[in-house]
Amino acid sequence: MAAPWEDVLRDTPAIREAAVVAVDAALLEGVLMRTEGEPNASDVVNFAPFTLLPSAVPRTLFEQAYAVQQDFNLLVDAISQNKEFLERTLASTIKVDDFTARLFGIHMQVLEEGLAQSVFLGINRSDYMFDCGVDGTAALKQIEINTIAASFGGLTARTLPVHQRVLKVLGKSKEASQLLPNNPSKGLALGIAKAWELYGSPSAVVMFLVEEVQRNIFDQRCVENELWNRNIRVVRRRFRDVFEKGSLGEGRRLYMDGQEVAVVYYREGYVPKNYDQQNWEARLLLERSRAVKCPDIATQLAGTKKVQQELSRPGTLESLLPGRAEAVARLRATFAGLYSLDMGAEGDQIAAVAIADPDRFVLKPQREGGGNNLYGEELRQVLEKIRDSPERTSYILMDKIKPQPALNYLLRAHSPLRVSECISELGIFGVYVRQGKEMVMNTAAGHLLRTKAIEHADGGVAAGVAVLDTPYLV
Ligand code: ADP
Ligand code: MG
Repeated sequence: MAAPWEDVLRDTPAIREAAVVAVDAALLEGVLMRTEGEPNASDVVNFAPFTLLPSAVPRTLFEQAYAVQQDFNLLVDAISQNKEFLERTLASTIKVDDFTARLFGIHMQVLEEGLAQSVFLGINRSDYMFDCGVDGTAALKQIEINTIAASFGGLTARTLPVHQRVLKVLGKSKEASQLLPNNPSKGLALGIAKAWELYGSPSAVVMFLVEEVQRNIFDQRCVENELWNRNIRVVRRRFRDVFEKGSLGEGRRLYMDGQEVAVVYYREGYVPKNYDQQNWEARLLLERSRAVKCPDIATQLAGTKKVQQELSRPGTLESLLPGRAEAVARLRATFAGLYSLDMGAEGDQIAAVAIADPDRFVLKPQREGGGNNLYGEELRQVLEKIRDSPERTSYILMDKIKPQPALNYLLRAHSPLRVSECISELGIFGVYVRQGKEMVMNTAAGHLLRTKAIEHADGGVAAGVAVLDTPYLV
C-alpha cells in the first residue's frame, strides 16, 4: 500500500523546497493553532502540525469506515436511551472511577426529574487503525468512538489544499487531483443547524461551551462560521460563565445573560481537569435544561471505554439494535479484541495473560484526550500491582493494533525536518439528529487522518504527538 511518492521521499533538496511551500500554504489556508506560550490570544499564531505528504490508505478500508458510520450513529443513540444497559455496564466502573461516577450521577438525577430536552444531536468521530495481519493484509479496527468534543473537523478540510499544493510542487499533479474532497465542519454545522431549527425559537442562540485554555480555537471557528453563514447566532462561553450567568426559565428553557440558548455544543467537559465544584453545578444546570446538548450526558457515557468493551460481548449488539442483523455484522467486523477486568474468573484470566505477554495489549482507563493508555513493560507493572484489587475495574484491556509503518515528514513549528516512520489513524465524523423517537438526520460528515511517529504509543494532535494528514487512497 505504498504511496506513489516513495521516489521523492529521499530527494532532500526537493523535500526541503516543498516543506517551505507547505508551511506557507498551511498559514494561508488557515491550518492554525494558537501557541503554547499564548494559548488564549490570537496575536501570535502558528500552523497546526501536519505531514508533508498525504499518507496511503487502502480504499476498501476507507469505504468500509464510511459505510459503518450510520450504524455507529444508531448504536450510540440507542445506548444513550437505554438506562438499564448503561447502569449495568458502568456498575463496576463507577465504584472505582470518580469521574465516570459523577457523570453517571448527573445522568440519573436528570432522568429522575424527567427530560426537558426532546431534540437530540449527536456529533461523534469513530477512530480506526489498519491492523496488519500475519499474511500482510490490512484490516479496519476501531480504536474508539468519541461522543463528546470530537475535534479537527475544521482544520482537516484546510489541510487538503496544502497537500494538493505540495504534490504539485513535487511534480505529482495527477495525484493531487485525486485527493478526496472533505469538509466535516460543514456537516457538523448542518447537524447543529437542524437541531437549532427543531428547537423552534428563532431568536435563540447556539452556545459553544469552550475550555479555559483555547489553543484549538480556529478548528472551532470553522464550525462557527458555517452557522453564522446560515444566520444562526453563536456565542462562546465557559462553564464558569454558565455558573455565574446561566439560569432556567419556564419549561426549563436555558438562558445565558438573558438570552435563550437552543443548542449547547460541548468542546469541553470530557476530562476531570475540566471540572471544579462550580463547573459540576454548571454541567447539571445545562443537563437539566430543555436546550439540545451535544452531547447529552447519556451520550457522553455511551462513549466510555467500558461501554466499548461491553459492546464486544456476544449478543450485546443484537440486543441494542434488534432486527438490524446487517448493521450488527458491519459494526462487529470493526471490533478488535476487548476484555473486561471486572472482578471474577474472566478478569483474573485475562489479567494473567496480559502480564505474561504485555505487548499483545493496551491497558486503557476511562479517560479521553490521549496520553492515558499503558503499554508494554509499564502495562505489566501496573497490572501486576492492581491485579487483585477492584482498582483494576477502572481499566479495560484491548488487543494492540499493529499497523504497517510508512515514511513521511512531520512538520511542526521550531522542529528540524527529518524523515520518520509513521502510522496513521482514520476518523469518520458522524452526525445525527433525533426528535422524540424519530431520527431526522443520520450522516457521515467527513473524515480526519492523523499520523504519528511509531515511537509514540499514544496521543492525538492536541496532545502534541499526532499531526494532521490527508488520505491518499490506494
Ligand atoms: P483517547 O480517548 O485518549 O484518545 P484512545 O483509545 O483513542 O484514547 O487511545 C489513544 C491513542 O492510543 C490512539 O490514538 C492510538 O494511537 C493509541 N491506541 C489506542 N488503542 C490502541 C490499540 N488497541 N492498539 C494500538 N494503539 C492504540
Ligand atoms: Mg482517541
